[in-house]
Amino acid sequence: MHDLELIQVGKVYDDGTTAVSNFDLAVEKGEFVAFLGPSGCGKTTTLRMIAGFETITSGDIIIKGRNVTDVPPERRPTSMIFQNYALFPHMNVWKNVEYGLAVRGIAAAERKRRVGRILEKLGLTDIAQHRADRLSGGQRQRIALARGLVVEPDILLLDEPLGALDANLRRIIQNELKLLQTELGITFVFVTHAQSEALGLSDRVVVMSNGKVEQISDPRELYTRP
Ligand code: ADP
Ligand code: ADP
Repeated sequence: MHDLELIQVGKVYDDGTTAVSNFDLAVEKGEFVAFLGPSGCGKTTTLRMIAGFETITSGDIIIKGRNVTDVPPERRPTSMIFQNYALFPHMNVWKNVEYGLAVRGIAAAERKRRVGRILEKLGLTDIAQHRADRLSGGQRQRIALARGLVVEPDILLLDEPLGALDANLRRIIQNELKLLQTELGITFVFVTHAQSEALGLSDRVVVMSNGKVEQISDPRELYTRP
């Protein structure tokens, strides 16, 4: 059984814009898949449909054998990390990370255990009481990651998570992401317009243009293509 399947998935927005059409993809558990393509080609829309933040207008999305097409985001085994992190600026790090667990109705003792553990793993324990808006870009990115991982998703969806970081930090977080993914063994779907990121991180690259899948390649194959 695949972790994630997109079957002929399409999206037409209310204003008539066709953002995605006939998107087919099957992802194995523990795979690191990148969606690569220029701005406007439908990467974010596809990710949001997998997460359940956007309705789909045709096709089906299957996660672990279950059709989740009509399942709301908080009841899907997915977490999404947004490009701008979408942290609550006035809440401290702990509360930001805990939030998704509270939304899902997880009891206080379990929340405490899970938040403590994920902050430790991402090296955030010392800043647990700091307000999110006082922290650096790298720290915010780690908080966003912690917030996504704390709900223990089967699939982590990352929307250009390195876009706002400088080149040095990007390299560091990129390495951390790869280690984390290997260690946790969960599926990562990563959106980027930067070929180097797609090649450096993923097991497979889904190349998109104009709302369509152009090709799905092993990153090494993509690199050697003339
Ligand atoms: P990417 O993530 O690759 O930059 P998007 O998924 O954001 O691409 O956008 C795909 C297409 O859908 C673009 O033409 C974009 O303008 C359009 N689009 C995105 N969001 C909306 C929306 N809420 N309403 C109408 N069109 C949208
Ligand atoms: P409440 O949810 O009623 O505000 P909590 O005890 O859950 O009370 O949290 C109060 C504050 O203490 C939170 O803002 C959080 O930052 C912090 N906190 C709670 N548990 C821990 C912990 N194990 N380690 C570090 N900080 C914690």
